[in-house]
Amino acid sequence: MVGFDGDDTLWRSEDYYRAAEKQYEEIIGRYIDLHDAGTLRHLLEVERRNLKVFGYGVKGMTLSMIEAAIELTDGRVTARDLQQVVEIGRATLQHPVELIDGIREAVSEIAAELPVVLVTKGDLFHREAKIASSGLVDLFPRIEIVSEKDPPTYARVLAEFGIDAAQFVMVGNSLRSDIEPVVRLGGWGVHIPYPITYGRTRTNMALAEAHPRVRSVDTATQLPQAVREIVTAVRNAG
Ligand SMILES: [Mg+2]
Repeated sequence: MVGFDGDDTLWRSEDYYRAAEKQYEEIIGRYIDLHDAGTLRHLLEVERRNLKVFGYGVKGMTLSMIEAAIELTDGRVTARDLQQVVEIGRATLQHPVELIDGIREAVSEIAAELPVVLVTKGDLFHREAKIASSGLVDLFPRIEIVSEKDPPTYARVLAEFGIDAAQFVMVGNSLRSDIEPVVRLGGWGVHIPYPITYGRTRTNMALAEAHPRVRSVDTATQLPQAVREIVTAVRNAG
């Protein structure tokens, strides 16, 4: 079975978060000198602090932006400007889904040979809306929306499917949340890096891409071949 990550693997996501942050920074710039203010670093700190309560996703980001704006301006931020922050969140939730080049063809080629599953992390309501408008629903008979991507979560998903980790390949842009947990369980990974990497995922590169059960590709068109090579390796090992 082949699992696919959603954000920045099937569709663009990070670009929208970046655009949201830029708009947020513009609002903060009305109150403080942005030079050396570390506005986005502060926002990231607030988001990290809130992650365990709000979870991943745009709504959590929006609440953190409101909180961070109040903190940074010592409470001077106006209700009108906070309304604009809420609008940033609304726009980020409602942007049209933009698929990664060649991903539809790649997924459908792989799905013709192997069972596939979409494993995506975050807010259930937003995830469902995104998947529905992605035009990929027909390719994924199975969709798992999880709140964390760690070994126990993948182990639970694999157990539900009755699949041994050694028979599972996870395709994703994040070594930390898509590849490493699956490899730790004995599974395989195909890393497809996204040009933009966010602060949350940039730091942890503990698992070298040189791991024998990890392949790396530059574009979606190379995915079917990478998966085929893994299938061959699994068959040879078995
Ligand atoms: Mg991703």
